[in-house]
Amino acid sequence: MSRDKLKKLKKASASALKLLESCAICPRKCRVNRLKDKLGFCKTGLKPKVCSFISHQGEEPPISGTKGSGTIFISNCNMSCSYCQNYEFSQLGQGREVEFEELAQFMLDLQNSGCHNINFVTPTHIMPQILKSLEIAIDKGLRIPLVYNTGGYELPEMIQMLDGIMDIYLPDMRYASNDLAKKYSNAPDYPKYNRPAVKEMHRQVGIAKFDKAPGLAE
Ligand code: SF4
Repeated sequence: MSRDKLKKLKKASASALKLLESCAICPRKCRVNRLKDKLGFCKTGLKPKVCSFISHQGEEPPISGTKGSGTIFISNCNMSCSYCQNYEFSQLGQGREVEFEELAQFMLDLQNSGCHNINFVTPTHIMPQILKSLEIAIDKGLRIPLVYNTGGYELPEMIQMLDGIMDIYLPDMRYASNDLAKKYSNAPDYPKYNRPAVKEMHRQVGIAKFDKAPGLAE
């Protein structure tokens, strides 16, 4: 990360953390004080909660590559999808709270084990905590690309804060129908926020570009 990017990250992380005082960092806008561990819809206070971190071979092939994607599975979620494959930790909260330094160390461990990237799964509700932990990790030598792997229930203005920080976006676009979004994810305004948020991601990084890494299918 260049000096300019690091400056940007520090600024974004400080501003984002302040927003937790009356949390409206996702479309739910619960307005709870997460700095004091008050809980909103995502049931997450100040400390990030993590279920596991692994070298994931089963991510999209260009992300997993040959050495795995350094995936961090974050507990809890700002959606409540009835079909969620990560139900135990996205809905039931399996996992444990960690300090920012520990989350940073997970990233460094994944890099040291040879992973191609750091892949934050379900990052939306702890985006400020991720930025703070990234500061620590980058200071200690984290250099591999960052993947923001989101269910897509995002505010475009929060995605703007990630401009120049995230390298790859892996968003879902789950619903075009408010009724279905309400029925299956309790998020009737999903399409309204998801579309401009994904547009902002595209503005920042454009479409995916693939190299010819050995071992990957053409
Ligand atoms: S991140 Fe959590 S507390 Fe904040 S607005 Fe979204 S659901 Fe509510």
